[in-house]
Amino acid sequence: MNKPCLFCEIAAGRMEADVLHQDDHVVAFRDIHPQTPTHVLVIPRKHITSMLDIEPVDAELLGHMHVTARDLAKRLGIAESGYRSVFNCGRDGGQTVWHIHLHLLGGRSMGWPPW
Ligand code: 5GP
Repeated sequence: MNKPCLFCEIAAGRMEADVLHQDDHVVAFRDIHPQTPTHVLVIPRKHITSMLDIEPVDAELLGHMHVTARDLAKRLGIAESGYRSVFNCGRDGGQTVWHIHLHLLGGRSMGWPPW
């Protein structure tokens, strides 16, 4: 039997997470291994395996993920100094969980390009 998707389990409330926001379409929770003082993941309730799989019908959902990240950045006090929002895609992109998620990173100055 296939293992259930970790982020679907979190979205359904069957697995614990430090949830900061949820609505009909997205759930946002703190990353378990934060890379910056503030590190939040915004996920769609809809299971989409990777950014390679998004469809035109998902455009509004993806926009909603960004608006949610912006609202959280304001709420968590990282909007003014600046933040980064990232989707990792595939092996070279650093994706390790196969349910799309927007990383909201902030709370310290970040370099570019990414390591
Ligand atoms: P990716 O590498 O796929 O872009 O990001 C996956 C993220 O999910 C990582 O930053 C990792 O720390 C986080 N993560 C993995 N498992 C869990 C978990 O069980 N709970 C939470 N809150 N975050 C997780």
